Amino acid sequence: MTSDQKFGKAINILSFMNSKEIVVDDSELDKIFGHPEIQDRKVVIMSIIGAFRGGKSFFLDYCLRFLYAHFPSINNPWEETQCIFETNDSWMGESDEPLTGFSWRSGTKRDTTGIIMWNDVFLHTLDRTGEKIAIFVMDTQGLFDNESTPADNSRIFALGNLISSIQLLNLMNRAQEDHFQYLQFATEFAKFAGSSMIEKPFQNLTFLIRDWNNDDEYSYGTAGGNKYIKEVLSPNNCNNQELQSVRETIFECFNKIECCLLPYPGKIVASRKNYDGRWSEMNEEFRSELKTFIEFLLMPDNLIIKQINSIDVNVKDMSQYLKNFFTIFQS
Ligand code: GDP
Ligand code: MG
Repeated sequence: MTSDQKFGKAINILSFMNSKEIVVDDSELDKIFGHPEIQDRKVVIMSIIGAFRGGKSFFLDYCLRFLYAHFPSINNPWEETQCIFETNDSWMGESDEPLTGFSWRSGTKRDTTGIIMWNDVFLHTLDRTGEKIAIFVMDTQGLFDNESTPADNSRIFALGNLISSIQLLNLMNRAQEDHFQYLQFATEFAKFAGSSMIEKPFQNLTFLIRDWNNDDEYSYGTAGGNKYIKEVLSPNNCNNQELQSVRETIFECFNKIECCLLPYPGKIVASRKNYDGRWSEMNEEFRSELKTFIEFLLMPDNLIIKQINSIDVNVKDMSQYLKNFFTIFQS
C-alpha cells in the first residue's frame, strides 16, 4: 500500500530503536506544528494505539476521508462556511476507491516502533465557542506484540495519552486485564513527566473493540460499547485488590472513558491478500457501524481541545511541549 494521500503524507516523528533509545525527528515536528497560519489555533490531536495488525491505520484512513470531506486543511484550503455535516455516504468515497493515507497492511512483520503523524492539518472554527482549532491525526505502531516489552508498551501508551486529546485504544475481541495494566503503568509515567495529578493528566480514552462477537448482550456502536466498558470497569466486577486499584486509577486519570464495539468486517477485509481497502468489500454491518462511529467521533461537538494542566494548548506551544515530553521519556 502507498502511504500517499493526495494532500499529505504519514511522517514518522518518533522511533524506538532497540526498544530503548528514542529518536525524534525535530525538523519534521517543526514542519508539522510550525506552519505560520495555524500558530494561534487550539490543538485537537487524535491518536490510536494498540497491537499490530489490528486495523488501526485502516481505521485512521477512513477518518482522513471524513476529515477531508468536512474540513479545509493547510494543503487543501477552502472557505469554511462550506462545511456541511450531511448524513449521507458521500464522505466515504467511491465504493471501489482504494484506501490510502497511513500505510496499512504493511506485511506480517512490523518494521518500526513509533509515532507517525499525518503532515496535513485540518482547520475548523467551533460553532459553540468561535474558537479556531487545528486537528492533527496520529498513528502508532509496534506495540503489544511479542517483540515489545511491557515497559515499551506503557511508555508509548503514556506518550500517546499525554500528546493527544482524543485517544483510541484499539483492541481485538474484548478488553482484557493486561490492557488495563498498561493504563496503570502509563499513569506512573505521566506523573514522572510532570503532569500534576491534582488534575486528571489525560483527556478522552475511547476503547475501540474490533471483531466484537457478542452483540446479543452488548449491541454494536457506542451504546453497547459504553454499557460494556462500564460493566468491565465496575468495581463489583473484580475480586482482586490489585485489579481494583487499576480500575480506580483509570477513572482518576481520564476525563472521559468511552467504548465502541465494531463487528467483524468480513473475510475479505480481514484476510484477503490483495484487498485494497475499498468499502464495497466490507460486510454491510461493519461499513455502517464504521461510518456511524467516525461521524460521532469527529463531529465538531466531540472535538476536544488538548489541555495540559487544564489549560488549552495552542499550536505554537505544542512542538515545544512534545520535545519536552520526548526528552523526559528518553531518560
Ligand atoms: P495496524 O497494524 O493495526 O495498523 O493494522 P492495519 O490497519 O495495517 O490493518 C491490518 C489488517 O487488518 C489489514 O489487512 C486490514 O484489511 C485488516 N482489518 C482492518 N479492519 C479490521 C477489523 O476491524 N477486523 C479485522 N479482523 N481485520 C481488519
Ligand atoms: Mg498501522
